[in-house]
Amino acid sequence: MTDFDFIIVGGGSAGCVLARRLSDDPKLKVCLIEAGAKARNPAIHLPFGLAVIGLFNNLQWGYETAPQQHLSKRHLFWPRGKVLGGSSAVNAMVYARGMRADYDNWAQLGAEGWDYDSILPYFRKAEANQRGGDHIHGADGPLSVSDLPNPNPLSQAFVDAGAQAQIPITDDFNRGEDCEAVGIYQVTTRNGLRASAARAYLSPDVRQRPNLTILTQTSVRRLEISDRRAWGVHTTNNADEQQTLRASREVLLSAGAINSPHLLMLSGIGPAEHLRSHGIDVVKDAPFIGQRLADHLDVITQFTSRGGARGGLGFQWNLPPRGLRWAAQWLTRRGGTLASNLAEAGGFVKSDPQLDRPDIQFHFLPARMANHGRELVWGYGYTLHACNLYPRSEGEIRLTSADPKAPPMMDPRYLSDPDGRDMHVMMAALDWSRRILAAPAFDPIRGRELQPGPGVQTEDEIRAWIMETAETIYHPVGTVAMGAAEDPRASLTPDLRVKGIAALRVVDASVMPRLIGGNTNAPTIMIAEKAAEMILAAARTGTEASTP
Ligand SMILES: Cc1cc2nc3c(=O)[nH]c(=O)nc-3n(C[C@H](O)[C@H](O)[C@H](O)COP(=O)(O)OP(=O)(O)OC[C@H]3O[C@@H](n4cnc5c(N)ncnc54)[C@H](O)[C@@H]3O)c2cc1C
Repeated sequence: MTDFDFIIVGGGSAGCVLARRLSDDPKLKVCLIEAGAKARNPAIHLPFGLAVIGLFNNLQWGYETAPQQHLSKRHLFWPRGKVLGGSSAVNAMVYARGMRADYDNWAQLGAEGWDYDSILPYFRKAEANQRGGDHIHGADGPLSVSDLPNPNPLSQAFVDAGAQAQIPITDDFNRGEDCEAVGIYQVTTRNGLRASAARAYLSPDVRQRPNLTILTQTSVRRLEISDRRAWGVHTTNNADEQQTLRASREVLLSAGAINSPHLLMLSGIGPAEHLRSHGIDVVKDAPFIGQRLADHLDVITQFTSRGGARGGLGFQWNLPPRGLRWAAQWLTRRGGTLASNLAEAGGFVKSDPQLDRPDIQFHFLPARMANHGRELVWGYGYTLHACNLYPRSEGEIRLTSADPKAPPMMDPRYLSDPDGRDMHVMMAALDWSRRILAAPAFDPIRGRELQPGPGVQTEDEIRAWIMETAETIYHPVGTVAMGAAEDPRASLTPDLRVKGIAALRVVDASVMPRLIGGNTNAPTIMIAEKAAEMILAAARTGTEASTP
């Protein structure tokens, strides 16, 4: 079959939701196209597989940023999932929605209908919270949200230490209101297995629907557009076979915050001069496609720990017998260490008490990890990540070539804001991290501070260390932002239609007009839930998806 009602490009967090919700209507023929393979690797499914998932190059796109001027000219590694489930198949499974004010701010910026009260029903619709539902949480959705069956004692020490540093404790960061607190995160797992968007939304019965075609290991190279209307996509598969697939209703771009703007530009929708400089015919001059890139940047504090039962997780001589015990615990009760997402605990604090909401988020790991899990670290320890939730620096995605196989240029321009506010928040994040890790709860456990290390104390030393070591916490957004129809910085209208092109929407993390105060998987799934409802409503009434 090559003719469909809807073609969805990208089977990640958003794409899997769309495939499921649109194919709920048996009259609609839906095609989901994913560049990666089916999720067969066990490291995806076992939550603890996160410790080694970075070693599998075939599960991600292998992206690196342009050299970062304010990070000692380093190229930062930017993992993105390339597998059915997308980044939700390789992420750290932390379930965090962000705060009420984040979404109210989207609406104030022109994203009408995306204020907190309007989007809350879609978070609930998506969610199956193990604790049951209420007016904030959902109980019956496809996305399982669970309590960690056996948090590591070091994670509990982090929570206790946070309380000793005068931070309140919570068991639910997702009430929408002020979440200035520490606690153990809820995670997107079910029965001790990762609940990626693919596993949550594309259950075997959904995959077998006659009106849903799922093509894996198939890359979309270009969107087909005539007379400013999207009518299909051009694909190649692993055998280099090319195909054109037609969508009679809409093409839905869910390729993520890097690849969605990349594909739009390759298809002639983007900043006109830039497209022409690569020999691409301009279909629509859209200056902000690929712009407004924002990401959460992290400082990472790491300690060795003293061994013993409270020694956390790590590669050590006793790993084989411990591993056998972990396997037995997982097999008998789907619990124990193999059910751990590693980033077990965390929280939110303010860099300045005057702020209306927290602007720093923690992720605590009862283990030592290095280089995004791409290097195995010998020995026990613990790691605290702390990121700036609302950076002012804005970057961009640009073409490097008109060849679709060439990766785009990704330049988040971290710490480039002219007044230095972002660096100030990073320094405050380190200050908070050290304060918590110095609290008495860690006294029986604490070994040596490896990062930043005792030699990093003065403002200048801290600044230099941040420039040498800060890393992404994997939340790029904003590159095809939605906003008011008359806002020139908005590439999409609030119903996620590409301005000036009929029958084309973008539905993924790139549509966020601003970063939210938390992790981005649940918000992306929420976006896709709301989008699916809008798309189905338009299909029912026969409304053509076109915008000014
Ligand atoms: C390592 C890591 C850890 C993270 N940890 C967390 C966490 O703990 N909690 C959390 O909430 N968020 C986390 N995130 C972020 C979160 O997972 C992402 O924000 C979210 O998954 C983005 O969803 P998306 O649909 O926009 O893109 P993706 O899920 O990345 O999906 C895009 C899909 O499109 C496919 N694709 C791209 N181009 C093409 C093409 N040309 N043709 C066909 N297919 C294509 C890709 O292969 C991919 O499957 C993490 C992300 C990473 C990478």
